[in-house]
Amino acid sequence: MVAKKSHQKWAWIFMVLFIILSIVDIRFGWLGFICMGAPIYHAVRGRGKIHCSKYCPRGSLLGKFLKDISMDNNLPKSLKTKTVKNGLLALMMTMFTISLYHGFHAENVFRAIGFGVFRLMTASLALGVIMGIVFKPRSWCQVCPMGHATGLIKDVQDKKLNE
Ligand code: SF4
Repeated sequence: MVAKKSHQKWAWIFMVLFIILSIVDIRFGWLGFICMGAPIYHAVRGRGKIHCSKYCPRGSLLGKFLKDISMDNNLPKSLKTKTVKNGLLALMMTMFTISLYHGFHAENVFRAIGFGVFRLMTASLALGVIMGIVFKPRSWCQVCPMGHATGLIKDVQDKKLNE
């Protein structure tokens, strides 16, 4: 199998572009669906966490820009438990569902959904930045709902293979 090239050195550009474009026109918020869907797509295709290690713009941004300002503390064990990860995943799914529900009932559906996705993306990025400053730069990746979801998909696939 040919090893996939890592794009972690420059993939952060997509996150910056996403934010700028969405501020200019909130309809670009729809691009966030790609960011949320890509890790799941790769995991479903049996590629595990390849998105996290090679492509993710958010992970790339956290790793690149926080390394010089991070306090570099280890994330406490209590924050790395399955309960916390499942809780964050459930919270994100709930917020996302509520955003979509309101978006589909808004006057301008396209803009409302774009805003909902943008808000979710920037909220998780802001949390990731705060965690990256207090703890190690990519600490967010240890609890990230998308990263956790890909891990869950891989677990199911591994279980099926071993049956
Ligand atoms: S854990 Fe989340 S933020 Fe980190 S690389 Fe994976 S998808 Fe991106």
